[in-house]
Formats: sequence, structure tokens, C-alpha cells
Amino acid sequence: MARILGGIALVVVVALALLGVYGVEQVRALRAETLTPDVSCIFGLGGNVGVLRTSEGAVVVDTMTFRMQGERVRELAEELGGGPVQVVLNTHWHRDHTHGNPAFPPGTTIVATERTLEHLRNRDGAYWTGAAAGTLPNQTITDQHEIKLGGKTIRAMHLGRGHTDGDMVVLFVEDRVLHTGDLFFNKLYPSVDLESGGSVKEWGDTLDRVLALDFDRVIPGHGPVSDREGLVAFQRFMRQLWQVGAEAAAKGQSLAEAQRSTLLTADTGYGVMSIPFVLRLDRDFVIQRAWQEATGAVRPDGR
Ligand SMILES: [Zn+2]
Repeated sequence: MARILGGIALVVVVALALLGVYGVEQVRALRAETLTPDVSCIFGLGGNVGVLRTSEGAVVVDTMTFRMQGERVRELAEELGGGPVQVVLNTHWHRDHTHGNPAFPPGTTIVATERTLEHLRNRDGAYWTGAAAGTLPNQTITDQHEIKLGGKTIRAMHLGRGHTDGDMVVLFVEDRVLHTGDLFFNKLYPSVDLESGGSVKEWGDTLDRVLALDFDRVIPGHGPVSDREGLVAFQRFMRQLWQVGAEAAAKGQSLAEAQRSTLLTADTGYGVMSIPFVLRLDRDFVIQRAWQEATGAVRPDGR
């Protein structure tokens, strides 16, 4: 009996080890796509990473989910971006956009909004201790900030609430490429972090201000690279989603009734992102968020 149990234990240990190796491989597997001669996008498990090449080194927007991914991001960014990473920008506080930061040398300029830094400290403080604390944003903005580096202009802007209340978009001016962070999920149901001041109601108006910027191509927080048209389509979806919530609140509908709404039609072809037992971003989820905000069940308040 002991031998059988020992054998089972061995099989389990080997299986877990293989799963672990597989998991590490999956996590480290990143894919890069070139958008312009000087701008690339890196895809992997987590938020999309933007890389800008300048004559003085690389600029990186977001750093993915794990420190080991951050290391790969840094290596790739050095290849794609013409040298050591000079500036990192974090579009918002979520771990799938920031937890790679500790892979960058202390002293790297790290830009985020003031609200994002507050959320990192208050909502994710356990991660940002010890050495990691040295890679928290060290240059914070409230509305706009322009960086000139190696012949390029990088404009970082907070244009209103949406995914959180601290979202920052980053425009690579000369290349006309915009990184939206999670203000744009391309062909995917978005997460709405009401608890961090996100707002379905205000999201569409924030995107009006984003669309007023000068750009052609768009790196969304999640999903494939897109363009103005793709962003306009997502804005239409967000506005319909708010209508579902607003109508439910006006008519006193239950959540289940709201989830049967026929007002939401702009999500044709949208994919579902999910992590088993943790999160599932689907149609019911986004309607739940709109309903919670519209009925006041959850107040969009990050404070
Ligand atoms: Zn996010």
C-alpha cells in the first residue's frame, strides 16, 4: 500500500513539475509585432506592451504580469527599442500591466498617474515591498506630461474615468501610435474596475477625448492591434452597455432582467477572457458592472 501511495505521489510530483515547466514556458512565451519602423507591440499572458525605439534607447508601456515576463520584456525591448530601456510607463495599476516593473533597474524613470500610484500602494501594497518598491512609479502626472527622448516625443495623458479612475494613454507622436491601456479591449469583453473608480457611464466620454488625439494605429490593453475605427466600434459598445444599465435602473429591473436586455448588440464576435475560478469577462459580467453602477449597488469610488 505504502509503495502504491509512494508511486502515486511520484506521478503527482512529476505531473506538477511538468505543469510548472509548461506554465513557465507559457509565461515566458512572448510574441512581438512591428507596427512602424520604430514601434512594436509585445503580446503575452497579460496586458499588451508597447515599445518605442529612440536614438537614446527604448521606451516601454506596461510590463505584464510576472517579474520573469518583465525580464523578457526588457530583453526584447532592448533589441526592438535600440538599447537600454530609458523610460517605463504604466497605463494603470493592475498587476497584468505592472508586475513586470521589478525586472527594470532601480532608477529607471517610471511614469504613471498620481491615482495609479495611490492604487498601487493601497490596493496592491503587498507586492510593492522590499526591492519591488524601488520600481514603483517615480514620476507621476495628473493630466498631461510630455517626454522628449532621442528624437521622439512621448505624450502621456489622463483623459478621464473608464477602466479605473487613473487610466493613462500614451501617444508616440511621430509614429502616430496610441497605447490605450485597458480603456480599450479589442474584440473582448472589458473588465470594469468600479472599486478603483472605473465607470461604465463615463467611459464613452473619455474615449471622445482619446479619439480627439492624432494617431492612426492603436495598441489596446488586450486583444490585437487596432486603429481609429476599431476604437470607435468599442466606444459604441461601451455606450450601449451604459444604456442597458441606465434603462435597468430607470425601470427597476433586476440584474437577471438587465442581462436579458436586447439593447446590447455591438458585441458581435467578442471573445471571453477567463481565469478559472478567478474571473470571467463575458456579457453577463459587463452587464452586471453597468447595472451595479447605474443602480448604485456599487459606487464607482476608488477612495
Ligand atoms: Zn486592467
